[in-house]
Amino acid sequence: VQLIGINKVFYADDLETHALNDVNLQITKGEYISITGPSGCGKSTLLSLLGLLDTATGGEYTLAGHNTHGLSREERAAIRNKEIGFVFQAFNLISDLSVAENIELPLTYRNDISKALRQSMVEDALQKVDMQHRANHYPSQLSGGQQQRVAVARAIAGNPSLILADEPTGNLDSKNAAVVMSLLDQLHQQGATICMVTHDPKSALRAQRTIEIFDGKIVVDQINEVTQAIA
Ligand code: ADP
Ligand code: ADP
Repeated sequence: VQLIGINKVFYADDLETHALNDVNLQITKGEYISITGPSGCGKSTLLSLLGLLDTATGGEYTLAGHNTHGLSREERAAIRNKEIGFVFQAFNLISDLSVAENIELPLTYRNDISKALRQSMVEDALQKVDMQHRANHYPSQLSGGQQQRVAVARAIAGNPSLILADEPTGNLDSKNAAVVMSLLDQLHQQGATICMVTHDPKSALRAQRTIEIFDGKIVVDQINEVTQAIA
């Protein structure tokens, strides 16, 4: 990931909001980064840009070798489906699809994966989050922690270059939060690149590197000297 001089301005009701101001950021394959900062500082905006859900008003963004400037909506979606896995605070599972179907769904939007390959990718992902025994269950039959593990499986199933997590433990009690956080640790140890927005300083320390945003600017970008041991 390479962001150079990224700006994002929102225009609404004659009001200009400079959500991001000259953001420069490089994320190397295999890094685990946390993004912190007060409410309204630009964390979600940054995650939306990284995930190609929205476009910058200035600057350059390169993702896994793709220069993302000037792409059509369809081109962005194609790159997003292949390169990005999302984990949301609210899980965002589809309630009338089974666990396996939820995980399979994003893969069906890709034209480079056969049905047979899809099945084995779903099985691999279920195994990584230890939810094989729940493949045919529905989200309502699972605890919040289990739902988030399924959401993580959905995010990793397509072997994305980058996993984007937005407050992944925000809706979980401390026990389930710990399970999801150690799952992210495991994925990181297996080589995943993770970028996680969090309010929780303890969670932030699980990452190797912390970025702090204030008023649309990166004000801290540091390697965490003590990771995990504290958390
Ligand atoms: P955070 O995730 O850190 O709470 P956001 O990225 O959501 O912050 O918001 C950054 C700033 O951009 C805030 O001032 C917010 O009000 C503004 N903003 C975010 N999205 C929009 C939008 N769609 N339209 C107008 N302003 C927005
Ligand atoms: P919030 O705390 O953000 O209001 P909710 O608890 O209302 O979140 O729902 C969080 C998300 O999880 C929603 O997107 C909802 O569709 C999904 N969700 C909640 N419960 C279930 C369920 N039983 N089955 C499937 N999806 C669910």
